[in-house]
Amino acid sequence: MGWDFETDAEYQRQLDWVRDFVRTEVEPLDQVLGHPADVHDARRNALVRPLQAEVRKRKLWACHLGPELGGQGYGQVKLALLNEILGRSLYGPTVFGCQAPDSGNAEILAHYGTPEQKKKYLEPLLANEIVSCFAMTEPQGGADPKIFTTTAVRDGDHWVLNGQKWFASHARYAEFLITMAITDPDAPPYQRMSMFIVPRDTPGWKIIRNVGYDTEKAPTHGYLQYDNLRVPADHMLGPRGAAFVVAQVRLGGGRIHHAMRTIGDARRALEMMCERVLSRTTQGELLARKQMVQEKIADSWIELEQFRLLVLRTAWLIDRHKDYKRVRGDIAAIKAIMPKVLHDIASRALHLHGSLGISNEMPFTEMVMQSYHMGLADGPAEVHKVTLAREVLSQFKATAELFPDYHLPLVRERAIEKYRKALEHIDNVA
Ligand SMILES: Cc1cc2nc3c(=O)[nH]c(=O)nc-3n(C[C@H](O)[C@H](O)[C@H](O)COP(=O)(O)OP(=O)(O)OC[C@H]3O[C@@H](n4cnc5c(N)ncnc54)[C@H](O)[C@@H]3O)c2cc1C
Repeated sequence: MGWDFETDAEYQRQLDWVRDFVRTEVEPLDQVLGHPADVHDARRNALVRPLQAEVRKRKLWACHLGPELGGQGYGQVKLALLNEILGRSLYGPTVFGCQAPDSGNAEILAHYGTPEQKKKYLEPLLANEIVSCFAMTEPQGGADPKIFTTTAVRDGDHWVLNGQKWFASHARYAEFLITMAITDPDAPPYQRMSMFIVPRDTPGWKIIRNVGYDTEKAPTHGYLQYDNLRVPADHMLGPRGAAFVVAQVRLGGGRIHHAMRTIGDARRALEMMCERVLSRTTQGELLARKQMVQEKIADSWIELEQFRLLVLRTAWLIDRHKDYKRVRGDIAAIKAIMPKVLHDIASRALHLHGSLGISNEMPFTEMVMQSYHMGLADGPAEVHKVTLAREVLSQFKATAELFPDYHLPLVRERAIEKYRKALEHIDNVA
């Protein structure tokens, strides 16, 4: 029997340290600093760098990576247990060296980068000396990459890119962008695009504007223009025509890492909800004594624990198979349910805090917006439900008969046939 819900004692001690460290040292950063990706901000670096050094000393730096890249190679289950703590704080992932989109970009650089690309981009990225951007979505549509129009045309020893990208997070802080463009327009749809590394100082690209939303620290989602952007030929990342394959390497891990952190965010909302209803009185009794309030607490706990178990089981499957393709359906399921879990729990927390809850003196509107972020980034929930449904349906067969195989008269007929002799024998004796 391999089922086990226990954390080994040594790692549990690490987690206990992380929980305390995040509460006392990291969560307060969210209140006093600007954007975590702004690596040139002196105030940020003065406070964040010593904490990052402490994390390295504890051997908890970049835990999403294997030891060959400076990570611990803990695997996804241990990472999940860590990330659900880091998810409580905006600065958590940065202090522990596993922040998006750098974590995913590091994974594809590690997987597909040439030795030169790794030296120039991966090493400083892993050290958080620089940050990066993944520019894939285009203004005319993100959920269907087949309609992207950005092109890359070969010219001597360069590729020349033209087009626009949309919602490219952290473009304004990034030292390089990883971007996809059509290099082979006549190839089948999923083999038309290639991935490129664009260094920040390359002439020919600009940020038209930085787009944000109300609860963010700063508008950081770049609307980008490429105008005859010349990228050296050796800046192609991965094989020509393989942009979709390369993207999947980062998206599989990225989606489950978001889910791990979302557990932490949702748990924070539940904890606040519990403190409030145990403290607030109405019509002579605590809110916590009202059954409709109790239902909200119970529903939130159940939804959170169901979600957490699904995330942990998927993490375990990844560790076991070491192949994201084999757990595509499980990851799609997590990605699809994640926004709903966070949305519903954060909304209940907001509502139970009344006017205080909706105010800008509480984090609930931010959490609710975060649920929409989780529902869109790395693809909308609907697309992931389609993926999951396809995986589930692929395990079943159609029947050519008029009535289903489980039609009760047929089921009964088969059962009677199966036990006819045994029952006849008993009936005859009787
Ligand atoms: C906070 C945030 C950060 C992001 N960061 C990045 C980034 O760094 N890099 C990057 O490249 N992109 C980024 N994105 C973009 C993200 O990948 C896209 O928003 C997403 O893929 C959806 O694309 P879209 O916004 O163009 O919506 P559309 O493609 O226009 O879809 C709009 C809506 O249509 C519905 N829909 C779409 N497809 C289907 C379908 N098959 N079936 C049923 N309904 C459907 C869904 O409700 C969907 O939300 C980010 C997005 C957000 C919100």
